[in-house]
Amino acid sequence: MAERLYFSLSIDCEATQPAIADAALGERASRGFAEVLEGRGLRGTFHVLPGDIEAHGDLYRELHARGHELGLHVHPAADGHQEFLGVYGPDDQARILRQAADRFSQVVGFPPDNICVGYLSTNDFTYGVLHNLGFRHGTTSLPTRVLPECASVHAGAPLDVHYAHRFNRVLVGDLDYVEIPPTIDPDSRMWGGRHPLDLRIELVDAKNHWYTIDKAVRRQVQQAVPVKVIRAATHNTFEYADPRDFRRQTLGAVIEHAFRIAETHGLECVAATGAEIARAYRAAVPRESTAASLSLDRRGYGPQQK
Ligand SMILES: [Zn+2]
Repeated sequence: MAERLYFSLSIDCEATQPAIADAALGERASRGFAEVLEGRGLRGTFHVLPGDIEAHGDLYRELHARGHELGLHVHPAADGHQEFLGVYGPDDQARILRQAADRFSQVVGFPPDNICVGYLSTNDFTYGVLHNLGFRHGTTSLPTRVLPECASVHAGAPLDVHYAHRFNRVLVGDLDYVEIPPTIDPDSRMWGGRHPLDLRIELVDAKNHWYTIDKAVRRQVQQAVPVKVIRAATHNTFEYADPRDFRRQTLGAVIEHAFRIAETHGLECVAATGAEIARAYRAAVPRESTAASLSLDRRGYGPQQK
């Protein structure tokens, strides 16, 4: 049996946040995104801002009933806080996230167990806070990103799926929280070199995404990564319901690329939600085996300094 490549498509639903404030566009985009996926038999992960889920509860309940995954998306500024979660201490983070999670639960009838934090703005308190609140997987990092102005610094964070560390956001740990980072090309830099090219549908065209996917798959095969993942992301701020829309066409092409590239590497491409990836990871990698034990390579220090 061929080894699997899990292919995840996620969308941050945030059309009601103040910078966009277009709930109708959000509804069209989320519906169109689901349509593109379902047309190919796929299901996605919708990370939804409380404002969006309150505006279109029927839509998101329906998407959940159709097999898509719902999780929480948070932009603290949408609820009157500072814009970036990563500037807050643990108590404030817990308060902001709990309020958002409560509003989500009110609409869909269950608490979110997965999350995508806006701007991936986190600090070393965040994973512990998320775990304490009942989150068990999510996208909380963007490896190699260095954007201190957004409190979003993830240089040195793992490229692949892993258990988070309770006290350090860039270490692999043994927290019962599975981090699913977005797929990136660490060598292709943008924004002054402080950000990698990532698999965000709207960032570049399908041709450029092809190279990012192929390179990420090749690396995971070479490094024998236990659970191989391609995670693409987008936002519900584009006209995904319109077949002539460039982003919709890019999304369709990225899906085709993922399946074709998996085949060329001898892998079976399996479309998966975050929950399915987290389950596969838990089955493949026991939590006790990953507790960080750090060691410095001292071979160059010389015998007298051992
Ligand atoms: Zn967002």
